[in-house]
Amino acid sequence: MRMVDLQGQYRRLKPDIDAAIARVLEATDFINGVDVKAFASELAAYNGSTHAVPCANGTDALQIALMALGLKAGDEVIVPAFTYVASAEVIGLLGLVPVMVDVDWATFNMTAEVLEAAISPRTKAIIPVHLFGQSCDMAPILDFARQHNLAVIEDNAQSIGAFYTFPDGRRVHTGAMGDVGCTSFFPSKNLGCYGDGGAMFANDDALAERLATVANHGQEVKYYHKVLGCNSRLDTLQAAILRVKLRHLDEFCQARYAAAQYYTQHLKGIRGIEPPVESPFSTHVYHQYTLKVLNGRRDALKAYLETQGIPAMIYYPLPLQAQEAFKPITRAVGSLEVAQRLSDSVLSLPIDTEIRPEEQDRVVEAIKGFFA
Ligand SMILES: *Cc1c(COP(=O)(O)O)cnc(C)c1O
Repeated sequence: MRMVDLQGQYRRLKPDIDAAIARVLEATDFINGVDVKAFASELAAYNGSTHAVPCANGTDALQIALMALGLKAGDEVIVPAFTYVASAEVIGLLGLVPVMVDVDWATFNMTAEVLEAAISPRTKAIIPVHLFGQSCDMAPILDFARQHNLAVIEDNAQSIGAFYTFPDGRRVHTGAMGDVGCTSFFPSKNLGCYGDGGAMFANDDALAERLATVANHGQEVKYYHKVLGCNSRLDTLQAAILRVKLRHLDEFCQARYAAAQYYTQHLKGIRGIEPPVESPFSTHVYHQYTLKVLNGRRDALKAYLETQGIPAMIYYPLPLQAQEAFKPITRAVGSLEVAQRLSDSVLSLPIDTEIRPEEQDRVVEAIKGFFA
């Protein structure tokens, strides 16, 4: 068993994917080819965003967003302490200050409650991260940002396809709510390509143009550079693969959801673990199926599962405020003790679009065996 089975999905989609790759090889339009433009407009339409700007990976997407919003060295950006490193790394790389806030134990996500204590006159942006497959509670975060004139950059690398429901009933895709939404097409992500890839979403025309300009060496006209930019492109081959896979994204989300329901049903009643909690305001696309293992037994459970041939992963073993690279540049808001406790407790089980009930039964039996 693997943590993520990419092979099974490829075999299922093979005729369409192989044809898409062959088409690009024949056209040899490897850079900024027709599939890149077509994918960008199909992706924007899927997400309900006015614009989608493809780029080289999800980390670049976050960096380009910060650059296009005009943030300057010393500006502060609020980011959750419990997330993948990329969410905060780009803040530090640009000489900005990551202001780390704690997260909600139940959902792993940051909430609006912590924002008041986090802002200073230098605060310019918030990066809510929709971790593991469900949306942060965005309405109060967006309200707070509006009141304090802060930009919102959604890190949607793990939750593409999820819907957030506003208090008035409006349903919006994650990544379509902030000034910029960023996502990743890393192979194991819910919409993964066969290499690296990423994209940014924006509803504002001028901002979308700036994102595209920054991603393209800061040039609107070739060889005339208005601003400092970077070289961040999505390969045409990856775009062609993603066009095929985008047509299946909702079905991928449903398959992951069904697998998650199966785990939750069958793990019910095991004392010593907490299965994932689904928020009332978000659908869940289960990028990860993450347990909390209580009473300090997480590492023992992980080791036991390994002896049974079952992979399980710790996302993430160290909260960002405890990382050596971040200690000297971080402003921590409060104790960040939930982030620390989560890092000590989380364990993610194998999940993907192809996992079969028999495989999940083996995982469940092994967990029961450990606690018996
Ligand atoms: C994967 C991921 C990224 C970065 O994406 P890459 O394509 O690997 O650069 C950023 N944020 C989160 C939360 C991620 O999971």
